[in-house]
Amino acid sequence: MRHTIRHVRVTPIAFRDPPLLNAAGIHEPWALRSIIEVETDSALIGINETYGEQAMLEVLAKAAPALQGLSPWDLNAMEARVKALVQPAGARSEFLGEQISLAPGTHVSKNVAKVISAFEVAMLDLQGQLANAPVVDLLGGAVRTSVPFSGYLFFKYAEHIGSPYRPDPFGEGLSPEQLVAQARHMMDHHGFKSLKLKAGVLPPEQEVATMLALAQAFPGTPLRIDPNANWSVATSLKAAEQLQGVLEYYEDPAPGLEGMAEVARACDVPLATNMVVTDFKEFAQNVQKGCPVRIVLSDHHYWGGLRATQQLSRLCQTFEMGLSMHSNSHLGISLIAMTHLAASVPLLSYACDTHYPWQDDDIVQGGRLHFEDGSLRVPRGPGLGVRIDPEALLRLHDNWLHCGIRNRDDLGQMRKYDATFTGKQPRY
Ligand SMILES: [Mg+2]
Repeated sequence: MRHTIRHVRVTPIAFRDPPLLNAAGIHEPWALRSIIEVETDSALIGINETYGEQAMLEVLAKAAPALQGLSPWDLNAMEARVKALVQPAGARSEFLGEQISLAPGTHVSKNVAKVISAFEVAMLDLQGQLANAPVVDLLGGAVRTSVPFSGYLFFKYAEHIGSPYRPDPFGEGLSPEQLVAQARHMMDHHGFKSLKLKAGVLPPEQEVATMLALAQAFPGTPLRIDPNANWSVATSLKAAEQLQGVLEYYEDPAPGLEGMAEVARACDVPLATNMVVTDFKEFAQNVQKGCPVRIVLSDHHYWGGLRATQQLSRLCQTFEMGLSMHSNSHLGISLIAMTHLAASVPLLSYACDTHYPWQDDDIVQGGRLHFEDGSLRVPRGPGLGVRIDPEALLRLHDNWLHCGIRNRDDLGQMRKYDATFTGKQPRY
């Protein structure tokens, strides 16, 4: 029997997000995503989760007709049709501009890659249902049965300005002691074996002191710091010296490939990025410079999907680079797609990032997913192995209808706390 795609449904959702600080400002009380459902004439539904900003919703709506009449197996045809329908608004990467964006996924230059990824995962979920095989098997089979994630630490306030809802259980996180307690909470609840600190927020001395406190509290635990390019080259090098022997890798300390190259020349710790190598063209630029960035933190949501990320992994192997995964605020469908992908990639050098522990809701049947010893088991059921909980979808869509947020704005949110906050980068 031939199965044909006849309908694509995109449902914007919003969920509670704690007041997490970063280089751009602070998270708003609600994070946006969208849920994709691709339905066949045989009433099978393939699902996925992706970005939920207004521009993304518009481009998804524009591209949805591309799937009409396709077989769920026609990924190449889908890609060609999406490319034809969605013209990139400019080939330029946002990271070459003045303003540094923390979320490459929000940029229009990645529209084609983002939409292809959004549809590809849903089509792979359909294929898995048709073949009675998990997505990881469609990607070549599992090279590991579970995927390690890291504990993602944030400087944060105790609650959002205006108290929109009950504060999260983590409390304030500004001092080294508070961050050590946050790390302990993460490790006790989820069993994470490595830790990452989102930095570029407080004066660098305080962030370095926090890393040293973490190193002392959790000896032997791999530690990373990510200032999101909010440090000058000089500040980056000074911090690297103070953190000698502490870092597993050094994520996006200074702005731009040029800045990263300057840091790399004077620093032993490998540099990682989700800011300067965010597509295949930037990958080539890094190679042409002699690979100052040694580790790519991939993200299938904007690299063009699961198969494109497998290709990226092959390239990383070729150039003797490491690979791991970046994350934005997300729910369980994204987490499971990352897990299938990471399980299929022989080269996964480090535990993946995830914001998942910061969320308290989910869209999948059965509720929140559980890490075991810091890892997520790869589902063996057909497709992604998770289904949408229809009640949760209604609840989260209702959040979207009422939250009043249509585009992520960490800078604008920060100005509610501090009207003088400029968002100038690099700040230190
Ligand atoms: Mg990063």
